[in-house]
Amino acid sequence: MEKLYIDLGENSYPIAINGGLRYDIDNYLGEADKCLLITDENVDGLYGKDLQQFLKERTIEKIVLSPGEASKNLATVEGILHKMIEGGFTRKSQIIALGGGVVGDIAGFCASIYMRGIPFIQVPTTLLSQVDSSVGGKTGVNMPQAKNIVGSFYQPKSVMIDIEVLRTLPKRELLSGIGEVIKYGIIYDYDFLCYISDEFAQIMNLKEESLKKVIKKCCEIKAEIVSKDEKEKGLRKILNYGHTIGHGLEAITQYKKYTHGEAVLIGMYYEAKMAKVMGLIKEEYYKEIENIIKKTEISLDIGEFSLQDLVKSMTKDKKNQGDKISFILPSSKGEVKEVLLSKEEVVW
Ligand code: NAD
Ligand code: MG
Repeated sequence: MEKLYIDLGENSYPIAINGGLRYDIDNYLGEADKCLLITDENVDGLYGKDLQQFLKERTIEKIVLSPGEASKNLATVEGILHKMIEGGFTRKSQIIALGGGVVGDIAGFCASIYMRGIPFIQVPTTLLSQVDSSVGGKTGVNMPQAKNIVGSFYQPKSVMIDIEVLRTLPKRELLSGIGEVIKYGIIYDYDFLCYISDEFAQIMNLKEESLKKVIKKCCEIKAEIVSKDEKEKGLRKILNYGHTIGHGLEAITQYKKYTHGEAVLIGMYYEAKMAKVMGLIKEEYYKEIENIIKKTEISLDIGEFSLQDLVKSMTKDKKNQGDKISFILPSSKGEVKEVLLSKEEVVW
């Protein structure tokens, strides 16, 4: 078992990583008069029913959402809150988020606003949620106008990462998580980037030892960044490498063509190119980034979209300042920096 601790003063919490950890869930729930298990249909079929058996002594209610991003809206939140009020949930109740980032973001947001905040625990079941969304306390939902535009910073009581559940994850979803994994190496730790490159096949084949190591390292990096800057005033922005172009691509395709991680992989590729063109990094390091992104075999061809249209969709980003677009670009091995560019200055 790997253990980590996110140090955020009174909002601190542990992260545990192991195969089969879900069987141990009862020990991770604190005292609670009632628990609400929030999951989606796919995950419920695979693990939800199973999990309830291990919570026999608890009073549990369950809400099963339709899988996918389309559920991540205020109507879903309202539905959950109605059920919680009708079900007599109190400040002593707890929410368990069992699923990917969609379930985690919705469940966390509900926990943060129900009676001004009740405890919740994260049991992330996708690689993306295990290395990224379950750690750091961003919760929220989408509005028709923009993604993740309504939400809160709200930390879980604990995060339980069971790597065994990744075995049922579709390959495309696994790859989506790999996008964020590679990102951590580029933004924070060059040795880790080399490790990912060397162990790429083992990670994709879900070799337990490599997976545990990778997930732990990603959580460590995210924990370190979040501990220093919980509410994205500065340092935390580096987590957005690949995301300016990535979000632009997701928006321009109405979130239908790419998974988030795929868009981030493509975004990282073009943002590395930008860094090279702008002289921030040398050709040799650019090639290293390109090689590792190409290991995923993702298509990097985005020729169907004009640069102008893409840039237009980037101008709505929350991180922008005035009429400048915020990019996080590689600046040396294992380091990135923020560069603000006007629409006309964007080139790759
Ligand atoms: P997701 O939650 O939609 O899950 C992807 C698919 O995998 C779903 O169909 C789900 O049912 C299925 N699934 C989940 N676990 C499974 C398993 N073990 N076996 C088989 N199928 C399984 O997507 P995601 O990629 O986990 O998360 C994406 C969301 O996370 C986005 O909404 C994004 O905005 C959010 N996010 C949030 C943060 C944050 O800091 N809060 C960070 C990154 C991403
Ligand atoms: Mg992301």
